[in-house]
This record gives sequence, structure tokens and C-alpha cells, in this order.
Amino acid sequence: MTSAVDGQQSPGLAARLTAIDERIAAAAQTAGRDPGAITRIVVTKFHPASLVRDLRALGVQEVGENRQQELSAKQAELAAVDLNWHFIGQGQTNKAAAIRRSADVVHSVDRIRFADALHRAAEGDDVLDVLVQVNLTDDPGRGGVAPVDAVGLAEHVLKLPSLRLRGVMAVAPLDEEPAAAFARLRDIADAVRAAAPDATWISAGMTGDFAEAIAAGATHLRIGSAITGPRPDRG
Ligand SMILES: *Cc1c(COP(=O)(O)O)cnc(C)c1O
Repeated sequence: MTSAVDGQQSPGLAARLTAIDERIAAAAQTAGRDPGAITRIVVTKFHPASLVRDLRALGVQEVGENRQQELSAKQAELAAVDLNWHFIGQGQTNKAAAIRRSADVVHSVDRIRFADALHRAAEGDDVLDVLVQVNLTDDPGRGGVAPVDAVGLAEHVLKLPSLRLRGVMAVAPLDEEPAAAFARLRDIADAVRAAAPDATWISAGMTGDFAEAIAAGATHLRIGSAITGPRPDRG
């Protein structure tokens, strides 16, 4: 939290953020899309809260974390800062209440039990934005519901009044062209939207594949290392 170090980081951070935003705008233009309809979430996992503060000073408001403990700690430390926290990691059912307390959006609803746990953790009449995460790989151990079950999970979420279904999320497989994977996601997004017309978000695209995601209709990009720099090693 020493500001001298942060202050030195900021020029590089600002330049990387600007460079990414220019690439997002260019990819949107190529795809014939309005860059203003694309939300860039900066994934800050493994980086200290001070980096999130530096990002906020550069105008960033949407930030993403993939571990509940890290999300909760940073959100608590920065509670006074005007940020929207996106939870993008695999959620444990017994951590649903903690996730719900800290996150503004949960991208990774991948099973009925987790959706139910998030719903049970609601306090008062607060409504949580959620996306159904779809597994685009052949490995059932990866995060996300199988494509064939995505609409069923979405329909379940629609029955939980404390959750607002916004759309779908996915990570492109490592062993496939991202464009092909994102095209499948696009079809799944269309099927979900047929059941839930307001579920218009497609959360897809990371440092290595956001241009392909934009071409496939992504509305929310989750970009980490290209903006933050390499993640500190956490073994
Ligand atoms: C870490 C992470 C990202 C960002 O990855 P980069 O390659 O650093 O941009 C996006 N989505 C999820 C789910 C992640 O865990």
C-alpha cells in the first residue's frame, strides 16, 4: 500500500488501459458494433487493493475477481470507493453468502445448487445480477454448465426472485480457435434469450481473445494481464 510504488506503476497502467481500450474500439469497429455497448471489466485477481485504487483513479469502475476470499477482502478495503465488483470464479455453495455480500454481479452461476445458495443468501429485497456460465470445453471438470443444460439452468434462475438473469458467460477452451467457441456461446446466448428476453449480456473475451469475443457479440470483456501487467506469482 505504499503510494510511492503505486505512483510509479500508474503511468504504465494508464498506457496499458488506453492501449486496450483502443484495441477494443478497433475490434468493435471491425465488427460493425458500437464500442459504447461493450463493458470492459478489469480483472484484478492476485493484485493488491492499491492497484484497484489506481485503476479507479484512471476511471475504471468495473473490476473482476475470481476467488471469494480475495473478492471479500478487497471489496471490504475499498468499500468507500465507487466500484462494481464482478465475481468470475468458481463459486462454492458454502461461500455463496460471502460472494453475494461483496459482488454486484456473479458471472459464474454454473449449477442449480449454487443459484439456490445465492438466492437463499439474499437480504431484504436486494436483487443480484447473475449470468449462467457455460462450459465450452469437453472437460466436465472445468467451470460452467454443459451447453445442453444452459437453458434449463437459466429457467431455474428465472424462478428465483432475488436473482436477475443478465445473460451468459464463458471462457474459450485452450485447444480450440476462440472464434469457433464464441460462435457456440452466441447460439447458447440466443437460446437463453428466447427464454429470458432481458438476458442480453454475453461475458466473454480475455487478454488473448477479446477481439474474437467482440466479433461474436460479447457485451462484457474480462481483461486482466494486458491491463494490470503480469499477475504476482501465487504458486
Ligand atoms: C483471470 C481471468 C480472466 C482474465 O484473464 P487475462 O488473460 O489475464 O485477461 C478472465 N476471466 C476469468 C474467468 C479469469 O479467471
